[in-house]
Amino acid sequence: MLLNPGISLLLALAFYLLWHGRRDHGYVLVAAAGHLATALGFLVQDVMPPLPLELQRIPSNALFLLAGVLLMGSLLGHYRLPVPWRSFSVMGGLGLAALSYFLLVQPDLNYRIFSISFALAAIAFLTVFELRRTGRVNLVDRLLLWACILTGTNFLIRPIAIIWMEGGYTDYVGFQQSLYWTTVQFSQSLVSIILALCLMIAIAQDLIFQLQTDARTDTLSGVLNRRGFEDVATALLARHEAPLALLLADLDHFKQINDHHGHMAGDAVISGFGRILLDMAPAGAVKGRIGGEEFALLVPVPTPETALALAGALRERMATPLDASIPHTTVSIGVTMAGPGDRLDSLLQRADKALYRAKRAGRNRVSLHRPTPRQEAAC
Ligand code: GH3
Ligand code: MG
Ligand code: MG
Repeated sequence: MLLNPGISLLLALAFYLLWHGRRDHGYVLVAAAGHLATALGFLVQDVMPPLPLELQRIPSNALFLLAGVLLMGSLLGHYRLPVPWRSFSVMGGLGLAALSYFLLVQPDLNYRIFSISFALAAIAFLTVFELRRTGRVNLVDRLLLWACILTGTNFLIRPIAIIWMEGGYTDYVGFQQSLYWTTVQFSQSLVSIILALCLMIAIAQDLIFQLQTDARTDTLSGVLNRRGFEDVATALLARHEAPLALLLADLDHFKQINDHHGHMAGDAVISGFGRILLDMAPAGAVKGRIGGEEFALLVPVPTPETALALAGALRERMATPLDASIPHTTVSIGVTMAGPGDRLDSLLQRADKALYRAKRAGRNRVSLHRPTPRQEAAC
């Protein structure tokens, strides 16, 4: 009798502690509340002294329905999907109304079992239906989906199978020792643990992904930092089949901005150029801030002309004043195409040569590194 409340209380505590460390993730607290409601439901049903007319069936089953709604809501919350609270409430409300009818108006234990189980199955299957909207399909997401399908199937098949095997129940005497209630207790603890573990793994995976993203992102400009750029660009270079270009952009006379307007104004310019890169770089481009006021872009492009056109568009966008509150400056960009077997450092060196030419030619310019005849022969 204490197995289920014990497990559910522990899970509620685990999710509560998890939420404590990440308060912006409200769905984790919802999961804690769901497990707490399960624990209270079992305590009311099995441990509390019985109320007259089996009246504790109403609060205990209301708690089970509430737990189902909260636990399924937390799964959807994890994927930032809208939770159909209204449909959940209608399903839960209908289940509770049917239970009350078969308790108070036309007492029938079998129909009471069906009322609650089918309402919980409907809530689980609606969640499965909503979960299809998440575009994510990694192993953990599939596990979570299957845990949800298992929950729904458990609520749908179990009562039908057991009541069919047992020939139905006429009264409540001995119900707690019945095969039905034993399987409820056993399967419920199993399903609760499976659901909770899958959600915890999914939360941990998100946390790891978030930490990796944070470690690779430059907070000032919003693009990758040097380490992140090197990792992602090296991986892209290793697997690319389409031609790639490397653009190396350096803000012009940036030191003067710091000297004349202060470091904060300089930061605003860096952040402004980061926004331009995020806005204008095509899909699939790797964007990074690899030095103080130096940015790199590894981008799939069909021809050197396309790469030059992109660099030209970035230069032009920067040449138009960003915002009245941000000091104005321009950018120079060196461009090179990646040949077969090119490594990131050699690409950066070549783009740097082109950038140097653009600076020497007067800044606010774009320059393409053209391979010398010797390099061309090597290609
Ligand atoms: P050039 O046109 O030749 O590139 O000249 P420049 O002044 O842009 O280049 P230089 O290398 O002389 O100066 C770069 C300056 O960028 C020096 C450094 O103080 C500043 N800087 C580097 N990182 C940051 C940063 O995060 N914020 C701000 N505000 N300034 C930075
Ligand atoms: Mg500069
Ligand atoms: Mg520089």
